[in-house]
Amino acid sequence: MMPEALKELINSIGYLPWIWEKSATKLAFFLLNSNKNYVEKLSNNMLNIKNKVHFCNICHSLTDINRDICNICSSESRNKSMIAVVEEYLDMLTLEESGWYNWTYHILGWVISPINWVFIWDLNFEQLFRKISDFDWKLELILATNPNIEWEATSSYITEEIEKRWLKYKVKITRLSRWLSSGYIEYADNITIVNALKERKEI
Ligand SMILES: [Zn+2]
Repeated sequence: MMPEALKELINSIGYLPWIWEKSATKLAFFLLNSNKNYVEKLSNNMLNIKNKVHFCNICHSLTDINRDICNICSSESRNKSMIAVVEEYLDMLTLEESGWYNWTYHILGWVISPINWVFIWDLNFEQLFRKISDFDWKLELILATNPNIEWEATSSYITEEIEKRWLKYKVKITRLSRWLSSGYIEYADNITIVNALKERKEI
């Protein structure tokens, strides 16, 4: 009964996370009744994130397709000897917003979680270890961890691997203080983040 194109749109919107079936239908009708220019812009914007965004060669953050490395990695004023290791891009944004320090980042992409079929080889570990061994001086890795068992496994893997590869003398590994124990980086406010960073502990 419903036109095929509308049905298809509802199906694709319904595939998105956090969208219930009813909201998918409402959104589809909203688009149907919207100005055509807006719908065109929206669909172009969606395609553009696939065509015009890619990963930074150094930190695996996101950057424009015509650049090999992101703004942070290419900036002269960033301290390259301090690397905050985060799970995902949104965590990096939260740390950046706190505006507390001018370090650089390394984005793992995931945390180890065999139960969700995420294994060591799915994370950007190799680039991180290469970064440490290629670096001329000693550097600090700040493990910006979320309070969960997956991050425990991920942190242990990083520390163990650094020892195994004889890189321990080149790295000081710290992690955020317990300030964050009740919450995730993504949802923490700036003061909590800054305190967790300031009082980070060596492990
Ligand atoms: Zn980068």
